[in-house]
Parts: sequence; C-alpha cells; structure tokens
Amino acid sequence: MIKKILIANRGEIALRIIRACQELKIKSVAVHSTADSDAMHVRMADESVCIGPANSAESYLSIPAIITACEITGADAVHPGYGFLSENASFAQIVEDHSITFIGPSSEHIKMMGDKITAKKTMRELGVPCVPGSNGSTDTLEEALESAKKITYPVIIKATAGGGGRGMKVATSSDELRKNYHTTKLEAKNAFGNDQVYIEKYLSLPRHIEIQIMGDGNGNALYLGERDCSLQRRHQKILEEAPSPVLNDQIRQNIGSICAKAMAKIKYSGVGTIEFLYENNKFYFIEMNTRLQVEHPVTESIFQIDLVREQIKIASEGTLSFEQDQLKIQGHSIECRINAEKLPDFTPSPGKITAFHSPGGLGVRMDSAIYQGYVIPPFYDSLIGKLIIHAENRESALNRLERALGELIVDGVSTTTQLFQELLLEPDIQNGEYSIHWLEKWLQDKEHKTNL
Ligand code: ADP
Repeated sequence: MIKKILIANRGEIALRIIRACQELKIKSVAVHSTADSDAMHVRMADESVCIGPANSAESYLSIPAIITACEITGADAVHPGYGFLSENASFAQIVEDHSITFIGPSSEHIKMMGDKITAKKTMRELGVPCVPGSNGSTDTLEEALESAKKITYPVIIKATAGGGGRGMKVATSSDELRKNYHTTKLEAKNAFGNDQVYIEKYLSLPRHIEIQIMGDGNGNALYLGERDCSLQRRHQKILEEAPSPVLNDQIRQNIGSICAKAMAKIKYSGVGTIEFLYENNKFYFIEMNTRLQVEHPVTESIFQIDLVREQIKIASEGTLSFEQDQLKIQGHSIECRINAEKLPDFTPSPGKITAFHSPGGLGVRMDSAIYQGYVIPPFYDSLIGKLIIHAENRESALNRLERALGELIVDGVSTTTQLFQELLLEPDIQNGEYSIHWLEKWLQDKEHKTNL
C-alpha cells in the first residue's frame, strides 16, 4: 500500500493530486521552487520541500533534487502530474530503481510512446489506424521529398520528439518542403535535443478526438470514451468537451475497443490518452500521452470517476475498479482553460491577483491553484484554472458554462475568460461544428475586423 506520495509538479494539477491523496488518507508531499514558496500546493500538502531556484531545469526538472526530497520525507511513491518529468522515461526508471513507486506506466512504455515514430510503428502493428506518412524518419531532404510525393501535398513535417504543439511545419508544395525541412530539423534539435523528423499527410479539416484508456499492467485494459479537443490555438488545446458532438455510440465503441485491445496487448499500466485526428468518419492516430492530461476532468465528469484515484490504485494494486460494461456516459462536460494572458495577443500576464471569486453551483467545478493575494510567477505556463461544466446534455452544459463564466472574477491580471464568453455566442460553437483550424481562423477574422 502507498502511504505517502510526493507530487513532482506545481499549480492546479499538484492540488488536484493532493485532493485525491486526502480522500484516500494518503500523506502528500509538495515540492517547490523558491518562486513557489507561497503557492497553494505547498500550503495544502502535508509536507513540503524546496527543491531549487525558479528556473524549472534546476527544480521541477531536477531528478536528483526530487529523489532527495523523496528520501528526506520518506515518500514511497511519486506522482508526476503532466508536463515537467511526467513523460521522462529515465525519471520513471530512476524512481523505481530507488524502490519508490512511479504512479504511471513503465519506463519502457513511456519511451515507446515518447518517440512519435516508434509510437506510430507500434500502433500500426497493433491495428490502430494511423495518419499516412513516411516510413519512419526522413533523414535527408531527398527522402522527405520522395515521401511527400507519395503521400501527396499538403504534408506536415513533425519532430519525433515534439510536444506542446511545437516542432511542426506544414508544406503545401515541394518548394515549401525544401524551405521548411531544415528549419524544422534545427528547431527540433534546439527545443528537444533530437533533430529527427518525419512526414505526415496534413489533414485539411480534421477534428482532434482522443480516447482515454486505462490498463492494469497485467493485460486488462478499458476505454473511457473520448474527448473532443478541436478548439486549438497554435496546436494547443483551449477548450475540450466530452462526448464529442460528432461521434455516435457505434463509432465510439469501435475506436474505443481498438484502443483498449492495443493497450491490453502491450500490458499497459496506468491511464493514458491515444490521440487521433478525425476526418470523413475516419480516425488517424497521431500520438499517445502516457500520463494524466490537463483535460482529464471532462472524462471524470461524464463517468463520475476519479482518474487520479484510479492511477494510485493501479500503481499500488495492479487492478482496475470496473469492467468495460459498467462504464456509461452520463450527460455532457466542457472544460475551458483559463490562462493569465492578455487578449487579443495572448501575451502572458503574470502578477498579483487582487481579487478572486470562483464560480460554483450545480455541475460547476473549478480546478485552480490561485487565491486572492497570490502572485503568479512569470517562470511557468500561464494556466491559472480550468472551469469544468457538467450537465445532462450539451445545450444545458453551454448554458451552464455561460452562467459560470459570468460568475468568475480574477482581478489584478488579465485572463482569457472573455474569449470563452465570445466563443459561446458563435453558432458554430453552439452547434459543435468546428475543426482544429476553426479558432485560428476566427481569431484572424476578428483581428481583421478590428483593424478595419
Ligand atoms: P504535440 O505532441 O505537440 O501535442 P501532436 O502530434 O499531438 O503534437 O499534434 C498536435 C496538434 O497538431 C493536433 O491536435 C493537430 O491540431 C495538429 N496536427 C498534428 N498532426 C497533424 C496532421 N497530420 N494534419 C493536420 N494537423 C495536425
């Protein structure tokens, strides 16, 4: 049994994990940088350890500092949250080598899926449909041109180690591929320390639909529906909903079973997300995240399941709490990522929060680590809260979201709240008719109108 969990993260996700620990009567340890001494996760955990300076390379990403913190506090498990070290295979291995439980999949699976080329190859072999693309990496421009000719333009050049929406460039012609190939490689090398790239068909109007899966590590796995994350800016998710407005039960069951079978076959352990692009009623695998995702609460809402509790249970007992046929979708859920950013340019807006009022009421959940008087440091990402709505159907969820956004008060810094209020007025959003390019286009049109 796990007795004490060290949370190798910060912000709302650290708090989310501490909350699960409290309900399970498991002790929690927060780690923090010097910039986060007053952070909410430090206040809420049973114990806390300062692990380094503001620069995350020397604190939240420092494996020796985190292992030392485990030893000092006697933590017998580590939860990595998302981002930071959550998909670092050697971190998972080092944690296990110290006889500490890593709450997540095996380092072997993290490694397999962390490299997008290996991930695609594995998934293809497991019978998961993939985006047409080059056979492995394209190491020279000539290879890339040859692949693109076969796949047909437009194509997308992608870094195998890419993440966070970075390391991708579209090419609509061979000239453009010539122009972008080496820059993508160079950017990948600088950002991820790995310059390997590959070519994929660039889908023109897909939706981003991902399947939540869960495995016990012993060959049993199940799926927990999908999340539709098509509303994106710069390949990054802004709003997520479940179920997707465009899937029916049959399609959901088909793709869900394919994913669960694949995960059972590799004996995947823990929660994970298999990401697809969806166009013309077809799914195309793009990548797998071997961790809890930012948008996990929409799945929790429609299944009334605590995914962090399940993660802890799998890590400590190697069992799942339910069978596939016990999982029934109830209603509709939408999440908005509230960032401390100034519109219209989305420039980060760190600083002191002078007033904060969290929305409440039936079906409203606010996962946030801010409080009145808190100073948002400039060193980390700008997510300050996730507003998660649950209602009996999509229409009610949208109405409830509008009501909740109206209650949210964050003074002292700029936030993206107004963006969602404006989006809710759009018929395409109301009708669920949007692809991964919808938001970028809407923002461009808006800018154009403002400049007229
Ligand atoms: P990351 O690891 O950076 O999140 P992903 O491979 O998950 O990268 O892709 C992120 C987003 O980039 C997708 O949700 C989609 O919007 C866009 N994208 C990725 N691959 C393609 C593709 N082949 N065609 C069109 N858009 C793509």
